[in-house]
Amino acid sequence: MIILKNVNKYYETGGEKVHAVRNLSVTFPNTGLAFILGPSGSGKSTLLNLLGGLDTPDEGEIWIEDRELSTFSRKDRTNYLNSYLGFVFQEYNILKDLSLKENIVLPLEIQGYKRKQINQKFAEILNDVELTGLEKRKVNQLSGGQKQRIAIARALIKDPKMIIADEPTGNLDSETSRNIFNLFKKLSQKCLVIIVTHDEESALEFADMIVSISPDGDSLKEVKQNG
Ligand code: ADP
Repeated sequence: MIILKNVNKYYETGGEKVHAVRNLSVTFPNTGLAFILGPSGSGKSTLLNLLGGLDTPDEGEIWIEDRELSTFSRKDRTNYLNSYLGFVFQEYNILKDLSLKENIVLPLEIQGYKRKQINQKFAEILNDVELTGLEKRKVNQLSGGQKQRIAIARALIKDPKMIIADEPTGNLDSETSRNIFNLFKKLSQKCLVIIVTHDEESALEFADMIVSISPDGDSLKEVKQNG
């Protein structure tokens, strides 16, 4: 469970103070699909950075299970980033010079996993994201949807408890987007998936929970909570 209590984040640029996250209190469950909706500039990316431990709030608390994020040591924070969390970025962040497999297993290579473990995890994950049979393809021989599945597989391979995805269907057509949302829905049975999107229609269709950020006034509120 992740709990945000009265979280505020300000930026100061050229003497101007921007209130990027405005007094946000929200509780995310352990599993399920949560969407964050809001217009451009409403603080969605800032919120993802706070949840990801990449930035810290100016006021308020972020509780990860039973610990407050600001009390994490440097080592705990690195562990949190490496094992608790998987990020899926908008532009896939796929490395074109690497194969499909090399892209997916990169986090395990970095963490020094043994070859046998890597191969085993890779086979499982490939099946989960429905890319089996495409192992030999080069990245430039894959569609946008398939590249997004690689990015999701790379986030999943560490067995994270939470997946954070920033506009994961921003560059995909509507049918491919639906397939990707369906995949996230399936994955969210086992972990928490938080997706930032402009796609309100899909959020309403797939979400267990929606956090909607208004451009002015009192920051965020939950507008839907299923199940
Ligand atoms: P969104 O992701 O919803 O588009 P952001 O979180 O990127 O919104 O930005 C929220 C507000 O904070 C915007 O007004 C933006 O200009 C400002 N902002 C974001 N990052 C910075 C930064 N590093 N320095 C100064 N202002 C920032």
